[in-house]
Amino acid sequence: MYWQTIKKSPESQQTCPNLSDYEQARASFSWNQVRQELIGLPNDQGLNIAYEAVERHALGPSRERVALRWLGKDGGVQDYSYGRLQELTNRFANVLESLGVDKGDKVFVLAERIPELYIAALGALKAGAVFCPLFSAFGPEPIAARLAIGQGKVLVTTERLYQRRKLATLRGALPDLKQVLLVRQEGERVDLPDTHDFHELLAVAAADFTIPPTDPEDLALLHFTSGTTGKPKGAVHVHAAVLVHYLTGKWVLDLRPDDIFWCTADPGWVTGTSYGIIAPLVNGVTNLMVEEEFEAERWYRILQEQRVNVWYTAPTAIRMLMKAGTERARGYDFSRLRLLASVGEPLNPEGVVWGQEAFGLPFHDDWWQTETGGIMISNYLCMDIKPGSMGRPLPGVEAAIARRTHLGGIELIEEPDQPGELALRVGWPALFRGYFQEDLRYRQCFADGWYLTGDLASRDRDGYYWFMGRADDVIKSAGHLIGPFEVESILMEHPAVAEAGVIGKPDPVAGEVVKAFVSLKTGFQPGEELRRELLALARKKLGPAVAPREIEFQASLPKTRSGKIMRRLLKAREWGLPEGDLSTLENVAETGQEADSDAKP
Ligand code: AMP
Repeated sequence: MYWQTIKKSPESQQTCPNLSDYEQARASFSWNQVRQELIGLPNDQGLNIAYEAVERHALGPSRERVALRWLGKDGGVQDYSYGRLQELTNRFANVLESLGVDKGDKVFVLAERIPELYIAALGALKAGAVFCPLFSAFGPEPIAARLAIGQGKVLVTTERLYQRRKLATLRGALPDLKQVLLVRQEGERVDLPDTHDFHELLAVAAADFTIPPTDPEDLALLHFTSGTTGKPKGAVHVHAAVLVHYLTGKWVLDLRPDDIFWCTADPGWVTGTSYGIIAPLVNGVTNLMVEEEFEAERWYRILQEQRVNVWYTAPTAIRMLMKAGTERARGYDFSRLRLLASVGEPLNPEGVVWGQEAFGLPFHDDWWQTETGGIMISNYLCMDIKPGSMGRPLPGVEAAIARRTHLGGIELIEEPDQPGELALRVGWPALFRGYFQEDLRYRQCFADGWYLTGDLASRDRDGYYWFMGRADDVIKSAGHLIGPFEVESILMEHPAVAEAGVIGKPDPVAGEVVKAFVSLKTGFQPGEELRRELLALARKKLGPAVAPREIEFQASLPKTRSGKIMRRLLKAREWGLPEGDLSTLENVAETGQEADSDAKP
């Protein structure tokens, strides 16, 4: 089906967007200019994300403006002004200092969407520590793996998660983890050994704090992401990333100081930190924190009652709303909405257009990834939307479609509409500075001065980029990146499992769901009971966000001659796609497939 371009004329805009002329902004762009719009630490002491997010407003006329509004599960609402946030984050920075946290130490936070998470994130940045979020739906294994790889020194979590995820039992294997701070709910008064009470420490800490000198290149954020093989990778970001957070908040999300902004991403993932905490605060808006999970009516009610102006969500949520039926959106007042934006996975053209039907506005898709540190490609308010396209590169960012050469370099593909790997020219301030302690994996992402994203895409004649898929085997389920290796390793722990191969299976709502193929050791029989046992094992160890939804037993899994499981082939069969080159397949007869006639011996 052909999707018509959604035209944006000046008359169709309710107000003049922050970015009103894309071409002109590209032509005259300078990162130095963006730096001038931020204040920097006093006395030329550098640039600190938390200072830009909090003090920049708390020290001026916006001090009393609501920075964070928390909508709790119990229906309670808590407002934190920029002034109050300044005080609380100062206190937390003092807490960290009193616990012996030094510059560059890693402060992990594992929590649901509660105010303490935001306070800990910003307080850690003030103290010069590195903030690392963990998704609250992770099971003990992904939590322990990330704490170990990132050498977490402090963990802030809730009493409930500490108990449920049995974190006390993991601590023996985490020698770097020195301090655990627990947020307790009213009534929870269990005193657990070797833990501190978050609020007790906060209450006795001083309310003043002077942020130490912060070089823009000092480490600020550690975000875990997944690759095809090996352990999760910790992408490190520096304080200079705030330039991109600020600019994309201003130009892509069109944030203005009086706005009410809602980013539905969980702060356990990169979008929830960069756009659920940093970008909105740096732009001085009121940022909503919604504790409850998705429910169509609840979300519509929040948009109406909170008079949300800018809403940043994800394709899975949009598809769930579409599934619930457009009529559910009727009767709500969405007149305050000025911009709808989406990120994290491909947004079908139907979703873009459905925005107009339900809210009177189209969704603006944008693209980025953990490594890029901020939005790189986007549909801007001032620009026509081609439904299904990710849009055009941010002014200040140069994108291209590239092909890797055998010599380790790349060739840029100039011709339009040709598939290739999406590449970004190195030089924007939010580009990650490394995978923590994995230099080789980091260096493999670059060639000839370009960062290679691992995404396949094309660019059309008008300079719009179109997502085609991943170049690797990682799975995107409900917007969350999942590494197949992490899941396979847990399944392999079961005594019955000989081999495991994990892929993403197409799903109309979540985009993909995790599916595992398993072959068994001699003496074990496939059956419903074993399937349930494996699913339960994975859920217990990995948590619901990562565990497979489906398990299929096979006599043996397709492997290369060197013994690597061919996930590509499992996926092609599952998706009904061509199986491609089978020349490296180990045992063709066993899988019932014919190898290409030119298969090498
Ligand atoms: P993460 O690093 O977890 O944020 O995941 C980044 C990956 O999500 C990208 O490399 C893409 O594969 C995918 N992604 C993000 N945004 C989009 C988008 N707008 N359209 C298609 N895929 C996207």
